[in-house]
Amino acid sequence: MLRDDFVEKEKQKLLEEREQVLDELTHLRELMQSEVDVEPDEGDAEIFEREKNAALIAVLENKLQGIEAALRSIEKGQYGICERCGQPIELERLEVKPDATLCVKCQQEVERRNRRSRPTRPFEW
Ligand SMILES: [Zn+2]
Repeated sequence: MLRDDFVEKEKQKLLEEREQVLDELTHLRELMQSEVDVEPDEGDAEIFEREKNAALIAVLENKLQGIEAALRSIEKGQYGICERCGQPIELERLEVKPDATLCVKCQQEVERRNRRSRPTRPFEW
């Protein structure tokens, strides 16, 4: 497959995914706002629900950022280029993870480093 065609396909996929994530976020935020009246004996369950939703919102926001970063790099013509080594990221990898910013090799290396040294610091390349 040609890389340009692939990127165009990925862009559509990312736009759809962004749509879904935004929908979910809107829904979750509405839930968070509506659940203000808490019965004393339901308190624990309510709090648990809210914490679960808050965690989910954080995950989705994170995902949204990844999607938007990927869309921005498509606009700049830099999509699918590894941020670390500057080599094209494997198409198979992008297929699975459209918002990947590192090639397989760099990803593995970064993960290895992260495991070895905690707390992690941002990379200085
Ligand atoms: Zn790389």
